[in-house]
Amino acid sequence: MMPLVPTVLIVANWKMNTTPGDAAQLARAIADATDEPLVKRVICPPYVSLATVGQALAGTAVDVGGQDVHAEVSGAYTGGTSAEMLVGLASWCIVGHSERRRDQAESDELIGRKLLRCREAGLVPILCVGERLAEREQGRAEETVRNQLEGSLGVAASGAGGLDPRLVVAYEPVWAIGTGRTARGVDAAAMADAIRDSCAGLGLTDPAGMSVLYGGSVTSSSIGEFLAEPGIDGALVGGASLKVEEMAAIVARAALTGQARSEAART
Ligand code: PEP
Repeated sequence: MMPLVPTVLIVANWKMNTTPGDAAQLARAIADATDEPLVKRVICPPYVSLATVGQALAGTAVDVGGQDVHAEVSGAYTGGTSAEMLVGLASWCIVGHSERRRDQAESDELIGRKLLRCREAGLVPILCVGERLAEREQGRAEETVRNQLEGSLGVAASGAGGLDPRLVVAYEPVWAIGTGRTARGVDAAAMADAIRDSCAGLGLTDPAGMSVLYGGSVTSSSIGEFLAEPGIDGALVGGASLKVEEMAAIVARAALTGQARSEAART
């Protein structure tokens, strides 16, 4: 019998929430409440909680991720955390989150260098892209996302080995993050197609096999609309990922999709 391969990815972004002690307890409670073999789970706590979360998750299938990484390898960057420093603490890393683009004025070029650092350190990158409300209203959502991909992946592709084949892209419309508003499933799916097309143009060898996530106010009530779209492979979850019951329900719904896709892949 073929092994069951996780087909849905649920990534929890805890942002600047939880102390190391709280984080460990929450991570373990989520791991215990979401044990579904067909769903890959990743928890991204604050840096200071990576160690306690990693310990709390020992023996589970839940991975740990960073929320960001510095664009330089090392040096005089007070407060910075390099990709190499994350090795052993995390195996995934979010880069280009819109809150960092907004608050730290991160450019696509800088984000591209962060992708390079992730690749060198062996961290699986989760690249966030997404348009602002005005850009969507002007009909420029796809153009914005394609530009973000080109600006960051163009830099990342210049490194040894080209683009990381494990690249995950999270489509997160800025107007949907933390607002309670979500994109429509069909619009997210259309953007997922555009993302794969762009990545193919930028040299990604297997765009069909890459994971594209939706993010933006995902809850247990809205996850189904996104996972109903075959081009969406999971979700990047912010606020709802701090609640055990919400994560349990989100992952339970993802497991149904995982089962259906797994069966479809066998036939
Ligand atoms: C996020 O942090 O990437 C996010 C999508 O947050 P929220 O789910 O709270 O909108």
